[in-house]
Amino acid sequence: PELNGDGAEILMKSYACQRRTPLKHHNAFLTEALEILAQNAEFNDNEGRSVAFRRAASVLKALPHRVKSMEDLRCLPCLGDHSQRVIKEILEDGSSREVESTRQSEQFQAMKALTGVFGVGVRTADRWIREGLRTPDDLIRTGQQLNRAQQAGVQYYSELQRAVTRAEAELIMAIVEAAVNSVLPGCQIQLMGGFRRGKEVGHDVDFLITHPEEGKEEGLMLKIISWLEEQGVLLYQKTTRNSYVERLDGPARSASNMDRFERCFSIFKLHSSASRSGSASTSESGSACDSGCRAVRVDLVVSPFSQFAFATLGWTGSKLFERELRRWAGQEKQMTLSSHTLYDSKQNLYLRAQTEEEIFAHLGLEFIPPSERNA
Ligand code: ATP
Ligand code: MN
Ligand code: MN
Repeated sequence: PELNGDGAEILMKSYACQRRTPLKHHNAFLTEALEILAQNAEFNDNEGRSVAFRRAASVLKALPHRVKSMEDLRCLPCLGDHSQRVIKEILEDGSSREVESTRQSEQFQAMKALTGVFGVGVRTADRWIREGLRTPDDLIRTGQQLNRAQQAGVQYYSELQRAVTRAEAELIMAIVEAAVNSVLPGCQIQLMGGFRRGKEVGHDVDFLITHPEEGKEEGLMLKIISWLEEQGVLLYQKTTRNSYVERLDGPARSASNMDRFERCFSIFKLHSSASRSGSASTSESGSACDSGCRAVRVDLVVSPFSQFAFATLGWTGSKLFERELRRWAGQEKQMTLSSHTLYDSKQNLYLRAQTEEEIFAHLGLEFIPPSERNA
């Protein structure tokens, strides 16, 4: 088995949800390379290949030491031939030709630039590239038909490219708290996603909102959104209603891992000075973002109290950690896990939980705290 520096055995479990994966680790020089190949596979609509590279990278993130030779990889799970070839080349030559040529390819760079626009997915970006477009500027220059999300994405492109800091996340938290408390007192508001896992920066800020009295949360999002709109905080928002129905015979099979909560994908406006000094934006205009203004992507989700633990687990991430939890549930436990519920197919019943700890226990997993879910 794999030995660490002290000669003690490391038993590397094969599902990411069985392991502790800290934010900072020892193998970024390898994981960044593997994640380029994962991203490229995603751009080519090859999900299986993409997940294989992400799982390989994730195993290296959980190692308590830096990989120095191929010997260090003996007995590690999830490292396929392709990943091993890439790792070997980096260890021997300092870089991998495949990774570097991918990184520099026009196709990869154009996909990265175009899917980097809010509202643009792989399919759309691919179509534009086949039409000869390469950058967000090309979209404007050639007058492409854009939907409302994409228009906002292009309009605030450079602002949204800038990483969101923890200080900005705290500031937005204060605005969201003010909104929620003024429309429905007694709510619980939780910072989710990367910031809950301890990241210092993020591509957006995620919030989960609930009320301890089941039912009170119904229609809450619309009230929050109109409060925020009155304050001129929103540059863009798209709200989706809650469409979750609990079926007696277990969850419906669904290809997508999208949940069905009442949710809002939005872009907040902060004054740049405010985002430094810590006071909220109260501008009246509501739609423009001038030079003294900062645009930040914000996701809001409202969950009924009875589903709050599942929603918390589902919106903490990382994406790979979530995917592995669901795979573990299905393959090892004959259970179906979603951000709403956990269903046990052997007993034909829903397993309830008030806390994340209880969900891990139902799944027969050791509890992994959010800061160690950076798979
Ligand atoms: P970043 O710092 O880049 O924002 P992140 O981990 O917060 O990193 P997000 O894309 O914001 O990434 O996603 C946060 C969590 O919310 C992830 O765990 C993801 O599984 C979950 N999530 C995101 N979008 C959806 C969705 N449409 N349906 C269900 N869950 C989602
Ligand atoms: Mn996020
Ligand atoms: Mn998000």
